[in-house]
Amino acid sequence: MMNVAAELNIAVLPGDGIGDEVMACAERVLAVVARKTNLSLRLQHLPGGAQHYLDTGVALPDETLAACEQADAILFGAMGLPGVRYPDGTEVIPQLDLRFHFDLYAGVRPIRAFAGLPQILTDPKWREIDLVLVRENIEGLFYGRKHSEAHRVDGQIESVRDTMKISRHGTGRICDFAFRLAARRAQLKGRAGRVTSIDKANVFPSMAFWRRVFEDVSARFPGIAAESAYVDAMALNLVKKPWVYDVLVAENMFGDILSDLVAGLVGGMGMAPSGDIGDTHALFQPAHGTAPDIAGRGIANPTAMILSAAMMLDWLGERTGNAQLNDAALLIDAAVEEAYAGGGAFPIELGGSHGADAMTMIFLDRIGA
Ligand code: ATP
Repeated sequence: MMNVAAELNIAVLPGDGIGDEVMACAERVLAVVARKTNLSLRLQHLPGGAQHYLDTGVALPDETLAACEQADAILFGAMGLPGVRYPDGTEVIPQLDLRFHFDLYAGVRPIRAFAGLPQILTDPKWREIDLVLVRENIEGLFYGRKHSEAHRVDGQIESVRDTMKISRHGTGRICDFAFRLAARRAQLKGRAGRVTSIDKANVFPSMAFWRRVFEDVSARFPGIAAESAYVDAMALNLVKKPWVYDVLVAENMFGDILSDLVAGLVGGMGMAPSGDIGDTHALFQPAHGTAPDIAGRGIANPTAMILSAAMMLDWLGERTGNAQLNDAALLIDAAVEEAYAGGGAFPIELGGSHGADAMTMIFLDRIGA
């Protein structure tokens, strides 16, 4: 992957439920910013997901994987539907398969409290929330997904063991990623950077090892403040004073849980973009799932998907050195910020009246379509 030529190939996997709906919004925004910044983006729609599995018996066709392999970046909606399961009882979640297939080890979840959003916490400092949760995507407790052991007695399952894997390689590279991200943010924002590692080192030897590796990596970044905290204390602190954090780095399962918590701090899942980033490939998707409870009604908040598309452009800009891509990302970010601050954007998810289409129109209006 990585095309430094004028045209960039984006593999687009809308998926199921609201994935498809919010992807249509992001595509409209991408078309406009591409035109305004003189970028040529070729969006290739690819099949996959739980409905595709019901229709064909395959969740992620080989052709889709091959196209993702070739693409410059992957833009993903959401996949999975209630009750759609493989014969072994596990859910159809192709995004996990993509993560493992392309070794997308860094789950990057930025969270910002935009001015104009209904205030979730009463402290006025709430408006200062601007953090990024970096989740280790490949190991941790999710390693157990394919390494589970059931203990049977007389044919009946009596216990199940899932394995938590923490390796020097896996932990070292995610901590390194977090410090590099903190350094970039510090430079962009003109202030000191800080990385907080989340663990449970007081109980689990695997987590004590995680902490040692984190500390080893931190020694290579003397300009960035480093600290470790227990996950239970972080659950409290993220609700009491989330504005004090900059970059957080966590094991897979802790990151999974806390990323929903931090999305809740700024209004809900529809406000939380994400990128799953590896050394050769990257996939960008909203942190939410297919939201079957609201699918098909046009009421999903497309902000997370649209901000994920902006993250994709920014990542492509960093990789190719083409600053037009970073400009395009900034154009989207600024439009979203302005739409909430003074543009009247108020999604249904946050108690307002704007559905996916109305939200997209407001963003496009700010971009100056
Ligand atoms: P997954 O297991 O893949 O995370 P889920 O259905 O458990 O999927 P989500 O799809 O993330 O979880 O939805 C969680 C809640 O947040 C649901 O009540 C859903 O309606 C709401 N939600 C999620 N995304 C949005 C969105 N973009 N706009 C409005 N509400 C959303």
